[in-house]
Amino acid sequence: MKNNIYLTFDIEDWFQVENLRAIYPPETWKKQKLNVENSTDIILNLLDKHNVKATFFILGWIAERRPDLVKKIHKKGHEIASHGYGHLLNYNLSKKELKEDLKKSKFILEDLIGEKVVGYRAPSFSISDELLDILYNLGYIYDSSYNGFSIHDRYGKIELKNENNQPFLHKSGIMEFPLPLVEVFKKKIPISGGGYFRLFPSIVFNNLAKKYMRNNKDYVFYMHPWEFDVNQPKVKDIKFSYKFRHYVGIKKSRKKLEKFILINKINVFRFMKDNLD
Ligand SMILES: [Zn+2]
Repeated sequence: MKNNIYLTFDIEDWFQVENLRAIYPPETWKKQKLNVENSTDIILNLLDKHNVKATFFILGWIAERRPDLVKKIHKKGHEIASHGYGHLLNYNLSKKELKEDLKKSKFILEDLIGEKVVGYRAPSFSISDELLDILYNLGYIYDSSYNGFSIHDRYGKIELKNENNQPFLHKSGIMEFPLPLVEVFKKKIPISGGGYFRLFPSIVFNNLAKKYMRNNKDYVFYMHPWEFDVNQPKVKDIKFSYKFRHYVGIKKSRKKLEKFILINKINVFRFMKDNLD
């Protein structure tokens, strides 16, 4: 059985993440030097090299400031999707603010690429049933924000249709593509990219991903450009656990992603928007 692999990248800069929020609240973002073009280029070059297409969930705030980056990604044949506008945790926003955020990001991206944007990923996987209802009403078709890793304090919850984190049609009408988890020593851990991808040696991660794919056809993988950005400023004044989550393994990410792509060339790299039935 060939697996469907959805390579996805959430396009935001290093200072916009939740782990550094105490030092870099949104009102300070304007003063930061953007690294996002250089770090996204690392990803784009790698995808070009291996002729693989991916989905880019782009933050509206970034798209507004780096329109050429959005156009470049689109021109290379990747899918442009939304990561919202302001990268705040969705469940901390009022319904009105949330709607505004989702609408604004969709509008900015569609205006840049001249095509409909139909996919969404929530900041820090802050999903809710209400969020999916709003997405549907705004014309989004799919979402990929459900991460069932229960230990993580920031991730949101929704009503689920299956236990194995395979794509399903949510009651809102939105097609949901959850992030995969795999059982290790009777505990479910995320095997979808991000921090665990940086933390685990390649061989461990790739074997666990393979284990998941043996029983499940669809596999979602995600990373951020800052996870490849060895030139980002090193923030010292934060909790150790946040620092660890943000910086662990960044130097090796590029090589590891290349290995992951090569190993999975036996499978099919797809867009979620092409697999909605
Ligand atoms: Zn994000």
